[in-house]
Amino acid sequence: MLDWDNIDTVMLDMDGTLLDLHFDTYYWLEHLPLRYAQIHGGSVQEAKNLIYPKLMALKGQLNWYCLDYWQSEFDVDIIALKKEVDHKVQFLPGTEAFLDWLKTTGKHIYLVTNAHAGSLAVKQPHARLERWMHGFYHSHDYGYAKEELAFWRALQANIGYDPTRTLMVDDNMQVLATAQQSGIEHLLTISEPDTQKPPQATGDFMAVANLGQAIP
Ligand SMILES: [Mg+2]
Repeated sequence: MLDWDNIDTVMLDMDGTLLDLHFDTYYWLEHLPLRYAQIHGGSVQEAKNLIYPKLMALKGQLNWYCLDYWQSEFDVDIIALKKEVDHKVQFLPGTEAFLDWLKTTGKHIYLVTNAHAGSLAVKQPHARLERWMHGFYHSHDYGYAKEELAFWRALQANIGYDPTRTLMVDDNMQVLATAQQSGIEHLLTISEPDTQKPPQATGDFMAVANLGQAIP
């Protein structure tokens, strides 16, 4: 398993790593089309036909994570609509226990996320991640998504972490591959980021179903 003795910095993704990706899946694929149809007229299916291709086209790019971009693209209040379903925001199994354990180790714990500040504002009242985190780092503040090498260079210049003693946990294999390319030594992925979906393929990366399984 993980070489905890040689890790002093732990970077954690939020959606699909700490929090159940079901909230985001449900919001973008079901709730947004439903409310779009109610607000702009037309059927829910017509709204899906319009929304899905636009989402797919930008996947992995910074704008894909940008609520301002989608607010203007779809002409709806994305954050207000998210709050309508915020009861679905929840931790993945075992994750709060993992964070409680991790905090006792004295390691530096950082949230490193592509999530937009507006998305964090919807989730934080439920998640209260400041209970465990020593810092919050958002790709929007750097102008690059975590999928881009430039993000990691900027983050390291900012925080000054030792990549050989750093662990990055993310449910996105593209993000982990880029983190690895930037020199981060310890990498872990989540095979069950969405509790309502079957497990995802995790390639060659070390994987756990959820972070509860990463407690030694
Ligand atoms: Mg994620």
